Amino acid sequence: MLHETVIERFTIIVGKENVKYDNASLLAYSYDSTAQYQALPDAVIAPRNTEEVSQIVEICNEQKIPIVPRGSGTNLCAGTTPLEGGVVLLFKNMNEILEIDEDNLTMTVQPGVYTKTIFEAASQIGLFYPPDPGSMHISQIGGNISENSGGLRGLKYGVTNDYVLGLEVVLPNGEIIRTGGKLAKDVAGYNLTELFTGSEGTLGIITEAILKLIPKPETTKTMLALYHDLEEAAKTVSAIIANRIIPVTLEFLDQPTVKVVEDFAQIGLPTEAKAILLIEQDGAPEVVERDIDKISALCRENGAFDVTVAKTVEEAQALMTARRAALSALSRLMPTTILEDATVPRSEIANMVNAINEIAEKYNVNICTFGHAGDGNLHPTCLTDARNKEEIARVEKAFEEIFKKAVELGGTITGEHGVGAMKLPYLHLKVGEAGIEVMRNIKQAIDPNYIMNPGKMFARNKDEVVNE
Ligand SMILES: Cc1cc2nc3c(=O)[nH]c(=O)nc-3n(C[C@H](O)[C@H](O)[C@H](O)COP(=O)(O)OP(=O)(O)OC[C@H]3O[C@@H](n4cnc5c(N)ncnc54)[C@H](O)[C@@H]3O)c2cc1C
Repeated sequence: MLHETVIERFTIIVGKENVKYDNASLLAYSYDSTAQYQALPDAVIAPRNTEEVSQIVEICNEQKIPIVPRGSGTNLCAGTTPLEGGVVLLFKNMNEILEIDEDNLTMTVQPGVYTKTIFEAASQIGLFYPPDPGSMHISQIGGNISENSGGLRGLKYGVTNDYVLGLEVVLPNGEIIRTGGKLAKDVAGYNLTELFTGSEGTLGIITEAILKLIPKPETTKTMLALYHDLEEAAKTVSAIIANRIIPVTLEFLDQPTVKVVEDFAQIGLPTEAKAILLIEQDGAPEVVERDIDKISALCRENGAFDVTVAKTVEEAQALMTARRAALSALSRLMPTTILEDATVPRSEIANMVNAINEIAEKYNVNICTFGHAGDGNLHPTCLTDARNKEEIARVEKAFEEIFKKAVELGGTITGEHGVGAMKLPYLHLKVGEAGIEVMRNIKQAIDPNYIMNPGKMFARNKDEVVNE
């Protein structure tokens, strides 16, 4: 509980309407999109500008009150669950596109702008902001930057980090710094822009970002390849890349996922296929034509029993929308959906898909798999029921084994969803204890009072390290 004088100080800064501490508000911000994590904050505050953020942070630092910056709460790693209480910071009043600079091809935004709004604003003037997490209709750019989110176009265009040129950040002591800028090159000191990108709200608060835009591709084509055998689909992914073709999108859905998505989206997806690949290429028309022909041939050579290219823009959009709906569709089936994002080198996709299926069978749990196959980024998704403690124990064991397998194959425990509280016990598998210690030292230097999003990424003290 916060002392009433502290609440009063917050209220003076942001106004009464922007400080909430009634039960309904606290409950609403006690959880995010991650199953099984919930904790009440003490207050929910929506500052209106950077100066107000800075003043609030100063008070929190002085009083050692935890701060959990929160975008739309769509993260899947318990990244915004206020595990130690404190203040949840919202950016609903900081949601403006501040500038589009067509000479420098940049867009300057506040943290609360929706990803889709950024994409659309760029698109309207013939420019392109590629990062497109499946949640882009509702996710905010501050959340995307803090998770370094990927998306369906990651294979060709990279992830959020590749489009962040500069940041304004409020540090845990209330100081405001600017990193990077509208620059194609900048090697002045440590790369602080990259340090804050993907830092999951543990180092500071992003209050402004300069994003890179690129010219909009001339044309796009979307196609679907169907397989009777899951491994053949996985092998096609490697074959496409090995043939020096980098599609924009190279998505994989297994049969259980296809069935559920079709039931949800009703667009005529082939539910008889054991696996499908959804592939998109963009660029100059002649290049797209050539690549799509080559990819079609590779799909057939590697066992696809059917390959179709979308005939209209609407047909293509329906396919992409259906893919984006995969998680929402799956979550209708059981009370609890646990979605993971084990990631391996592309060449190991087939081995990883097989391993996931074997592990699911071993622990007798229901796992559907889909994901950004071209990035080696799979989303094994477990449909379960958190009330069934015995089953949940098996699910946890299964995922632990999946993470270990991913790392064994040269991969990582998370390709885009972040560590948060959920993957904290597994971070050492990827970076080792020495790697965690480096991160802990960085945190200690920037946030000595440990107020920024505590309980996320790694434990506060070495001795507290939670091994799996
Ligand atoms: C249906 C669905 C599909 C998804 N698809 C994808 C996908 O394709 N690719 C992908 O990478 N992820 C995906 N996600 C995960 C999630 O949407 C992303 O992580 C997204 O970037 C989170 O944005 P958000 O606005 O909801 O942020 P939140 O969930 O609110 O916050 C995420 C993290 O950012 C921090 N944060 C938020 N704002 C700030 C700020 N201004 N300053 C400092 N820290 C801040 C928070 O503390 C937290 O650690 C998906 C999630 C769902 C539910």
